[in-house]
Amino acid sequence: MQNWLASHVDSAMKKSTVVLAKQRHNSYKYRNVVRKRFQLAPIIPYIEVHLADHCNLNCKGCSHFAPFADRVFADIVQYKKDMEQLSRLVSNVRKISLLGGEPLLNPNITAFLSTTRKYFPNSDIQLISNGILLSTMNEEFWESCQQAKITIGLYIAPPFFEKQKKWTKIVKSHKVQVHVERKGDFIDFIDIKGSSEQKENFERCRKRFPCFPMLKEGKIYNCFIPATIQSFNHKHGTNIPNTEYIDIHDPQINGWDVLRQIESSTETCKYCTAGWKEVPKFKWAQDTRLYVKSQLAPEGETEINEHPLTIKHSFK
Ligand code: SF4
Ligand code: SF4
Repeated sequence: MQNWLASHVDSAMKKSTVVLAKQRHNSYKYRNVVRKRFQLAPIIPYIEVHLADHCNLNCKGCSHFAPFADRVFADIVQYKKDMEQLSRLVSNVRKISLLGGEPLLNPNITAFLSTTRKYFPNSDIQLISNGILLSTMNEEFWESCQQAKITIGLYIAPPFFEKQKKWTKIVKSHKVQVHVERKGDFIDFIDIKGSSEQKENFERCRKRFPCFPMLKEGKIYNCFIPATIQSFNHKHGTNIPNTEYIDIHDPQINGWDVLRQIESSTETCKYCTAGWKEVPKFKWAQDTRLYVKSQLAPEGETEINEHPLTIKHSFK
């Protein structure tokens, strides 16, 4: 009944051209106001999920801290439970990004693609990869991308810019949609001193960047930083907070609690530069130490030798 009513409310809102401008119809925020009035489950704009915490390309300043992560793959049993539960709590997630680390490293990747589509038939599902392993993917993978209507998001780092055409061609030849971006600049997200005002920083961050909440092992965080900072803390002996999340399996919560969580600041925002007036950026490099040590070292001792470029192509 709820689903029937939900689809009629959404479809009526889509068709109406009299009362409100088309833009507002398409806004999930506006649609959620109406859904709340009808006591329907909310629409969540975006969720990202790690299929692997680690990566085969250790970028300096990786915002998901993959260079500091242990070799950890998402567990399909847990993932099925999480997707099923999330689909009970919300009416839809507009866009779901499956990423990492490098998601193509996950040997069970096809099960994640089909599971995501099974529970979210109307979502835009994107698999975000650095592209290095694309040419090694088998037919089962490509069929699974087609069946689950996956878009491959290729985020290409400078050493591979010349591969852009070849990799795009590989994806298109399998009749899979592709979106390509070159990643030349990185943001230096972490301020170890925690010097920002939490809410102000969060509000500026959300005006500037799209919303990027993350689901990890049954917990939803307002963004990828608290969800992944554990690897960073572990490697550097820091204690950047990461305990503000919502457990989607808690019987006391509903979809509106999930929405509230992803639209709220957390203490982690104090340690983040995303809301600074000038967001610090740097050019891509394959050196994970430089990023951290420049903040940890005493003043005047920030000169650190960069690692030589050593890309691990077959890090399965
Ligand atoms: S390609 Fe670079 S930025 Fe992307 S997950 Fe791997 S290490 Fe991080
Ligand atoms: S930690 Fe807060 S301020 Fe930083 S990116 Fe996440 S939501 Fe934005």
